[in-house]
Amino acid sequence: MNDILPGESSAWQYLEATLRDVAHAYGYQEIRLPLLEKTELFKRSIGEVTDIVEKEMYTFDDRNGDSLTLRPEGTASCVRACTEHGLLHNQVQRLWYAGPMFRHERPQKGRYRQFHQVGIEAFGMAGPDVDAEMIFMTARMWDRLGLKGAVLQINSLGTPAARAEYRTALVAWLREHEAALDEDSRRRLESNPLRILDSKNPDMQSLIEAAPRLPDYLDEESRAHFSELCGLLDRAGLAYEVNPRLVRGLDYYSKTVFEWVTDQLGAQGTICAGGRYDGLVEQLGGKPTPAIGFALGLERLLALLETAGVALPASSPHVYLVLNGDRGVQQGMVFAESLRAALPGLRLLSNCGNGSFKSQFKRADKSGAEYALVMGDDEAEQGVLLLKPLRNKAEQEVLSTQDVPGRLGELLDIN
Ligand code: ATP
Ligand code: MG
Repeated sequence: MNDILPGESSAWQYLEATLRDVAHAYGYQEIRLPLLEKTELFKRSIGEVTDIVEKEMYTFDDRNGDSLTLRPEGTASCVRACTEHGLLHNQVQRLWYAGPMFRHERPQKGRYRQFHQVGIEAFGMAGPDVDAEMIFMTARMWDRLGLKGAVLQINSLGTPAARAEYRTALVAWLREHEAALDEDSRRRLESNPLRILDSKNPDMQSLIEAAPRLPDYLDEESRAHFSELCGLLDRAGLAYEVNPRLVRGLDYYSKTVFEWVTDQLGAQGTICAGGRYDGLVEQLGGKPTPAIGFALGLERLLALLETAGVALPASSPHVYLVLNGDRGVQQGMVFAESLRAALPGLRLLSNCGNGSFKSQFKRADKSGAEYALVMGDDEAEQGVLLLKPLRNKAEQEVLSTQDVPGRLGELLDIN
C-alpha cells in the first residue's frame, strides 16, 4: 500500500482529471461508492472459485459480527447501488467511478495491495454499439494522455451455455495433458478451468496454444455480436488483435471481453481490462439487465506515462513572496490576500518564518517559482514591490501594488 507523496500528487491529479474529462465527453456520470461492502456481495458476484475471493480479499467481522470486505473491484458495488436505488428501472445508465481497491496479492512492480482504478460501466444496452463506444473511449483516453503503443486485444466469451460447452471440452482435453499442468492449473482444472488460459507461467504457454479454442464453440448470436463489433472498430480505423485465449479472471463476463496491453511495463502489462456481463445484475437480485464495463489501473498508467516521458503539468508556485521587516511582513501578508483575490489561478507561496533575503531567495528558488515578489520595509513604505524573474536573466521591475495583478497576468499563463 503506497503513500502518494507531494512530488507525485500532481501527476495523479492530471491523470484523474484527464480520464474524468474523457468519461464526461461520452456522457458518463460519476457514482461514488463505499469502500466496504458485505463479503457476500463479492462472493456472489465475482465467484467463490476466483483468485480474488479465494485468496485476495481483506475480510473482517465488524462489531455486529457482520462479515465485511474492503472492495477488491468496483463493479459489484456499482451494480448493488444501482439496484438498491432503482437506477436500472426502464432506463440506461452510463457511469464512472475512481478510487482505491484492495487485494492481498504478492506485491511486485505494477501489483500492489491498495491500488487505484477508474471504472466505467454501462447498463441497459445489449448491442455491440456500446461495446464499441467503450473501446473508443479507452482509445481516446490514451490519445489525450499522449500514450502510444498499447495494443487492443478482443475476444468473445459467448453466452453462458456456449461457454459451458467449451468448458467441458477444455477440461476433457486438459485432463489428457494433466502431466504438463503446473500446480496452479491443476487446482483450477476443477474450479475455474478457463482461468488456466490466463496463466502467466511461461512453461504453460505451448500447452495453452494447443488447447481447444473458445471461438470454435461460440453460439450464433455471440458470433454475430462479435463480428458487428469488429466491423465498428474497422470502420473507425481502430487496430485490434483477436486473442482467442483472452478470458477474464472474474466469472460474470459474457460475450465481448477486451484488454489493452503494453510491452513497456514488464510482466504486469495489462493497463485496462473489461467486458460484457449481461448476467450479473440478475445474479445479484435485480431485473435482467445487459451491461458492460472496464477498469483501468492507474498505477500502471502512471508508470507508462513516466516511461514515455510525457510532460505533466506543474504544480509548483508561480510566485514566491519574499517578506522582510515588521512592516514588510504585515503589509505583505495583506497584499498576498488581495493578490489571490484578484488572480484566482495564481499559485502564490508566501514566505513564513522570516529569514534573511539570501535564505528567502534560496527557498524561492527551491520552490520552483518563476518569479519572486519582494516586499521589505522600504517597499511597504512606498507602496511598491520588486518583481524578480528567477528562471531567466530578465531585468527586475518595480511595480506599484495595484499594478502587480495586471503585470503578473501578462507574464504568467494563469487559467
Ligand atoms: P491479473 O490477471 O493481472 O491479476 P486481474 O484480472 O486481476 O488481472 P482486473 O480485476 O481486471 O485484473 O483489474 C483491472 C485492472 O486493474 C488491471 O488490468 C490492472 O491494470 C489493474 N490491477 C489489477 N490488480 C492490480 C494490482 N494488484 N495492482 C495494481 N493494479 C492492478
Ligand atoms: Mg488479479
